[in-house]
Amino acid sequence: MSPITHFLAGWVGFESCLRNQRDRTIVCLAGLAPDLDGAGIVIDLFNKLAGLPESNFYQDWHRLYGHGITAAIALTLLAAAIGHDRLRVAIAAFFCVHLHFLCDLLGSRGSTPDDLWGLYYLGPWNVTQEMVWRGQWQLVSWQNLLITATLLLILLERASRKAYSPVGCISQRADAVFIAILQQWRRSVMKLLAHLGFKT
Ligand SMILES: [Zn+2]
Repeated sequence: MSPITHFLAGWVGFESCLRNQRDRTIVCLAGLAPDLDGAGIVIDLFNKLAGLPESNFYQDWHRLYGHGITAAIALTLLAAAIGHDRLRVAIAAFFCVHLHFLCDLLGSRGSTPDDLWGLYYLGPWNVTQEMVWRGQWQLVSWQNLLITATLLLILLERASRKAYSPVGCISQRADAVFIAILQQWRRSVMKLLAHLGFKT
């Protein structure tokens, strides 16, 4: 899935069990990190633009180095090392990385039914066993759009209620402004629902 969906899934899935913004940020970044093994695309593009011999690092590295148990353990240890509440961060990061794997297995197919994306969970040490789901849907699909939109709505609703959001990963001051806007929207929605006869 896209990095945006991975981030939203990580936030919605784990923010509640973490006690501060720093730990939430670390766990969400751990959930994004598996896709760093797609960085070969930059080298491939550079080689192409520079007229150098064509390379295929993206296909060779992607899903092999970042999408397996080795990467999951490495990211868990790194997250725990820089987190405040280390045990909590370690557990959340481990599951957040695996949530990323699950999301990729569900919805990362190419444009044809055979263009399935598989994971090498034991990679890069063992590349003989590919994990793949035959029912995988396309990367650009209504399923992924629906999941992303749902996660975003959950995130916004929770942010307006709990008074913190991922904006706080960048700036606490910006987060305060964002939360004030969300809470204003929330009051408007509640007022509208009450006006329509719904109990809120
Ligand atoms: Zn991925």
